Amino acid sequence: MKKQRELPTAAIHAGEIRPRIAGAVSLPIFQSATFESTPGSGYHDLGYIRLNNTPNHDALHAKIAALEGGEAGLVAASGMAAITTSLLTVLGSGDHLLAQDSLYGGTQDFLTEDLPQLGVEVTYFDASRPESWAELVQPNTRVVYAEAITNPLVRVGDLAALARFARQHSLVSMIDSTFASPVNLLPLKLGFDLVLHSATKYLNGHSDIVAGALAGNAPLVEKIQRKLNHLGGCLDPHACFLLHRGIKTLTLRVGQQNRSALELAQRLEAHPAVARVHYPGLPDHPDHARARELLEGFGGMMSVELRASGDEIDQQLRGLEVMSFAPSLGGVETLITRPAQTSHAGMTEAQRRAAGISDSLVRISVGCEAVDDLWADLKPRLDALNAAVLPEQELTA
Ligand code: PLP
Repeated sequence: MKKQRELPTAAIHAGEIRPRIAGAVSLPIFQSATFESTPGSGYHDLGYIRLNNTPNHDALHAKIAALEGGEAGLVAASGMAAITTSLLTVLGSGDHLLAQDSLYGGTQDFLTEDLPQLGVEVTYFDASRPESWAELVQPNTRVVYAEAITNPLVRVGDLAALARFARQHSLVSMIDSTFASPVNLLPLKLGFDLVLHSATKYLNGHSDIVAGALAGNAPLVEKIQRKLNHLGGCLDPHACFLLHRGIKTLTLRVGQQNRSALELAQRLEAHPAVARVHYPGLPDHPDHARARELLEGFGGMMSVELRASGDEIDQQLRGLEVMSFAPSLGGVETLITRPAQTSHAGMTEAQRRAAGISDSLVRISVGCEAVDDLWADLKPRLDALNAAVLPEQELTA
């Protein structure tokens, strides 16, 4: 058997076409919609961009499979294309889906708005309470769906138990591991059938494309690829090229992001303007022990509860120079958002409160800048918030 290469090596070398094309060390872009084939070939064997089978796609599929330790990999036009196509491959009218109760908003909307229209029923579960899962299984349950690290409170469910539970009940287990990336978690090793990514985020890492990726056993991935071919959510070859290039530095980037985020979380925790830092690397995070067990690193995502109103926070965030106020995550640039106003703006205030998302919560996707520069950017903003809050507190004391 071929030796499984270590992640940094696989990120750079897995899937590369050999011999190199004209000696090019970097895989060229095959900007050709169609490819010559042998008369008599089947439709799915023809080379065509929408069929996700150009040399750029093939190389990426092998690279992603190698990174995740799966038999096969696949890329798609976006994370949502990968997620929706995977669910539509396995679920049909009359089926039932068990889904984690806190999911990325786009996935959540698909589950609540689209799947019921197609005759698929959805029940939500708490990923931290394995004892509550069995009673939710119905005779028509087909899939269990979770996220490795949730947004924005960065919760880590009992993922090993979830994969075991899915096996016991013959359910297809799918996990969106976007926040963890293969550097911090390999869900297929835990026993999940399919790992999904918004490759827009850590896999690509440069905030310059939208892409999706998945990996798992070959028959399942092949079925998903067929569905993707029908739905048309293919990744353009130029985006393939950028994703391919981005993946080569994945381990360097995420390693740095793990270290910087931990350091930043510790500094934030000690600042008087901060009420609470949600980061799985901090001992007071409710899932810290589990995160230590499951994750290689605690990731680059955190959220911070500030002692100020949403408006006061917005005003201070306008003064940031290194960090950008922007949605998305996982790139080399540090991005900051206020979820109540961005990713979770579609919820009512009561729903947000129930989900633990206050107006004073900010989410940070820590990039690859020097952590001292990030702190120098953020600290004066926190100091200003603190100065505004302290006199009030003194008055009411
Ligand atoms: N999954 C997670 C956890 C995400 O954060 C996102 C996007 O923010 C998606 C999926 C969807 O990915 P895309 O925007 O690439 O479609």
